[in-house]
Amino acid sequence: SRFDQMGLKDDLLRGIFAYNFERPSAIQQRAITPIKRGRDVIAQAQSGTGKTATFSIGILQSVDTSVRDTQAIVLAPTRELATQIQSVIMALGDYMNIQSHACIGGTRVGEDLKKLDHGQHIVTGTPGRIIDVLKRGNLRTRHLKMLVLDEADELLNKGFKEQIYDIYRYLPPGTQVVLLSATLPPDVLDLTKKFMTDPIRILV
Ligand code: AMP
Repeated sequence: SRFDQMGLKDDLLRGIFAYNFERPSAIQQRAITPIKRGRDVIAQAQSGTGKTATFSIGILQSVDTSVRDTQAIVLAPTRELATQIQSVIMALGDYMNIQSHACIGGTRVGEDLKKLDHGQHIVTGTPGRIIDVLKRGNLRTRHLKMLVLDEADELLNKGFKEQIYDIYRYLPPGTQVVLLSATLPPDVLDLTKKFMTDPIRILV
């Protein structure tokens, strides 16, 4: 299948082609459509498979840019990965008028608060900083539709379990959850059982 057969918004397709993606990778072929339909998805995938663009396209498809509130949160295990995800979202969403921000530790929280108060459709970050801005009330979740847990096994290896469960308490009921992980050890499966409803499982 091709990107232009997936029923994606025109301005998103433009961003995908401008980023020089010609054909969807295996994970993109299998995961974008269920994400687009609102299903919870567990993707067992390593980096290098095109996993970042998979959930970024899913998020960009579901964001309503006329609502200037956070509609998707992406959690990543490291500052570097969060920054990388933010730049992929910005590039693919280049024609969409997207407000997107990365909240990462080690930077001044005041910048994050200013950005969040301005209104961000998509917020990416490491769990510690995300729970901080949720508790402060600057990251509001009233219009949240989707939570992405990228490299879930690494998130747990790095000791973010408690923060992830704290963050989960802020989500509106029925929030769509997309989880990506290279491996699915028992603590990752626990997360999927607690957070997800009837998930589709994709192995690439
Ligand atoms: P990731 O698995 O997200 O770390 O992505 C691995 C690399 O594949 C990145 O450099 C992406 O830019 C690239 N990539 C992802 N999807 C595609 C695609 N459909 N066509 C060409 N390159 C892609």
